[in-house]
Amino acid sequence: MPKYVYDFIEGDRSRADLLGGKGANLAEMTRLGLPVPPGFTVSTDACRAFLAAGSPPAGLFEEVTAHLRQVEAKLNRWLGDPHDPLLLAVRSGGRYSMPGMMETILDIGLNDATVGGLAARLGDERFAWDSYRRLIQMFGRTVYGVPTDEFERELAALRATAGAGGPNAGQLRDLVETYKKIFLRHVGHDFPQAPHEQLFLAVRAVFESWNSERARLYRRQEHIPDDLGTAVNVMAMVFGNLGPDSGTGVAFTRDPATGAPGVYGDYLADAQGEDVVAGIRNTVPLPELERLDPVSFHRLLEIMTTLERHYRDLCDIEFTIERGKLWMLQTRVGKRTAAAAFVIAGQLVDEGLITLDEALLRVTGGQLAQLMFPAFDPAAAPAPLAAGVGASPGAAVGRVVFDSAAAAAATDPVILVRRETNPDDLPGMIAAQGVLTSRGGKTSHAAVVARGMGRTCVCGADALDIDPDRGEFTVGDRVVRAGDVISIDGTTGRIYPGEVPVQPSPVARYLAGELSPEADPLVAAVHRLLGHADQVRKLGVRANADTPDDARRAHRFGATGIGLCRTEHMFLGERRELVERLILADGPDELTAALDALLPLQRADFVGILAAMNGLPVTIRLLDPPLHEFLPPLAELTARVARAEALGRDPGRDATLLAAVRRMHEANPMLGLRGVRLGLVVPGLFAMQVRAVAEAAAQRIRAGGDPRPEIMVPLVGDVRELAAVRDEAERVLATVDGAPEIPIGTMIEVPRAALTAGEIAAEAHFFSFGTNDLTQTAWAFSRDDVEGSFFSTYLERGIFPVSPFETIDARGVGRLIRLAVAEGRAARPELTIGVCGEHGGDPDSVAFFAEAGLDYVSCSPYRVPIARLAAGRAAV
Ligand code: PEP
Ligand code: MG
Repeated sequence: MPKYVYDFIEGDRSRADLLGGKGANLAEMTRLGLPVPPGFTVSTDACRAFLAAGSPPAGLFEEVTAHLRQVEAKLNRWLGDPHDPLLLAVRSGGRYSMPGMMETILDIGLNDATVGGLAARLGDERFAWDSYRRLIQMFGRTVYGVPTDEFERELAALRATAGAGGPNAGQLRDLVETYKKIFLRHVGHDFPQAPHEQLFLAVRAVFESWNSERARLYRRQEHIPDDLGTAVNVMAMVFGNLGPDSGTGVAFTRDPATGAPGVYGDYLADAQGEDVVAGIRNTVPLPELERLDPVSFHRLLEIMTTLERHYRDLCDIEFTIERGKLWMLQTRVGKRTAAAAFVIAGQLVDEGLITLDEALLRVTGGQLAQLMFPAFDPAAAPAPLAAGVGASPGAAVGRVVFDSAAAAAATDPVILVRRETNPDDLPGMIAAQGVLTSRGGKTSHAAVVARGMGRTCVCGADALDIDPDRGEFTVGDRVVRAGDVISIDGTTGRIYPGEVPVQPSPVARYLAGELSPEADPLVAAVHRLLGHADQVRKLGVRANADTPDDARRAHRFGATGIGLCRTEHMFLGERRELVERLILADGPDELTAALDALLPLQRADFVGILAAMNGLPVTIRLLDPPLHEFLPPLAELTARVARAEALGRDPGRDATLLAAVRRMHEANPMLGLRGVRLGLVVPGLFAMQVRAVAEAAAQRIRAGGDPRPEIMVPLVGDVRELAAVRDEAERVLATVDGAPEIPIGTMIEVPRAALTAGEIAAEAHFFSFGTNDLTQTAWAFSRDDVEGSFFSTYLERGIFPVSPFETIDARGVGRLIRLAVAEGRAARPELTIGVCGEHGGDPDSVAFFAEAGLDYVSCSPYRVPIARLAAGRAAV
């Protein structure tokens, strides 16, 4: 028969899958000899078996009873003994913590017969009856869904009449009778008196709570799999509410907000854990315990040190003091802010508890990203109006607007406030500083789209009652009207009235070279860990940059080259007219003239970028987008021409442009005349760009520089496309005096290129995966539309846990990448391979690229430090 129940002494922290996080850590503390009340854990296996069959697996309760006997023997106290009853606490505890989502039942074992025994042992009749009424309430709610309100109403009524000292024992005994009646009315039978039956029903109820609606919702939000099940921890009760020499508290071994060492936590005398959660009375800071109960306090400090040394990390702890005796009820490696994660990792290295390699694994690229955003000055922030889910980080301040059109039309900073957003809100979201919604979580439309755009977003602030028709929202009795200024914090989810001052992030200032690493402990820790990441990583990190300014910024942030210089960005602004001339050219002479006019401008661009990245590779991509992107939109031109004609005026150049736009119109431009196709169809275009690169490099060499340009051809699907462009390019290069050797490579961004990578490698000095287009073409997802369209549904339904445009789809797109790497390297072992899609700056994707054997990732300058850290983590 399978084993389902484990005494605390049988388990250890490595068995969290089986025992749940709480059970595994209780076991670990028991093994360490710490004062944990005796108990046992019913495993997640048992829960899964229960949920699959709808009933407890055979033999489960016999096994529970056998383990209960051991607890009874240890304490010399028996469940159901009317003279001196053992009482039990039953708590859920899954693999991953799901705070407040599941169930706890305390005081199991109390009934009409044992309540007197408890009173006698503790010498406190009032306490015993109060515990009994707590049991009926918790048990009624958890096992049978009896509404808590009904019990609370009776309790409140009693408290109101009881006077200053609170209800006496007799009154509480009467209250228990009333509670039993409420129970009977809702459940249809009496409150179960048999203690073993209470226990089994409680275990069952905890299993069932795994599938409660709120638990399911929480798991979906947090990407916790639905099939894990929960364990159930059964433990002898200890009481923190036995008078002033008892109490309960939480402790952290370091400050989870800043990482500073010290004694952090809260304590509440004469209380049980649930009273702390309910916030009935105010807790005192943990250091106060030293005054109240110095013996327990110093014992707690000793235990905190033991736990930190043992777990080699920040721990959080729940404890109870029963009449001067300290008991540990829970511990785990504690949650912490991004800043604390870096600071603590550095401290633990200094204390000799972990190595620098391990320290790298204690921080994430996502945390570093958070630390780079500006933040509100906490000292200057007023009390928040409300809080929602921090869905996209940043600190945004602006006027409240309630509709997308108003946001799009605004010329000053605005916050778009909606109950929820939909694709029609996109223009407003683009224009706004921040987005605030009252519905939806981290995967709602607002959250997904805002994160994609780097827009600050707080969603699901359900305290807000938003009335767009009246142009206001209310929080309690506060009214905020359209035009009022608010501030929203996309990291904490807090919403403030008025303008809160924003501070630049010290980490961003350090990375930009404006602050020395010694400036503060956080910056010092970031400096140290990034330095270590650079030492151990095998992946290079380059940047996507199109201007000398961006190139310099990327270099400061630690990029060792440019992996993608998009030349189309050099064809905008004033140069658009030159591109128009190119497109409208009538015959070879006009074409040559247009290209000749562009050449010196391109050359100057490249000179600047090659200078900013002197001595480092700069991958320059030949023109990629469809040419009509450089012309006015069809609708606008049509209207202009129609207006001119209606007024009897000659539309002039607009008429010619309109004809060209109509001629070039494509139903699917992203799958149309772009990339290498453009180079093969527009004579002289790529040749001009290649010449500009070569001449710029020659000029840099003459000036004493060390330019390392590389030429990259986009959207290749067949080796013959690449061969044709390469032929032409090499012919041009041969004519430029003083130009260095310039490698010519290709992007791999359509599936056919990946599938024929061996052939393509014969013509390419390097590959760079364009994972934006590769994701678009592999999934047949339009990269410009889908994130604002059906992706929120896909995310909510769990079809994918995260957008494949954000984190590389390792199973599908990743398979194309692995294939291309293998076949490309087989054909040309010295082939350099990188990636320059957005994924190059996403920490999870960086881990994949490292494992797939790429040489470098390339990402936007601001993500360079994040990629460095992620690459370091991937290497340890
Ligand atoms: C890509 O497709 O991943 C890429 C880097 O090119 P672009 O985004 O310019 O199409
Ligand atoms: Mg592309």
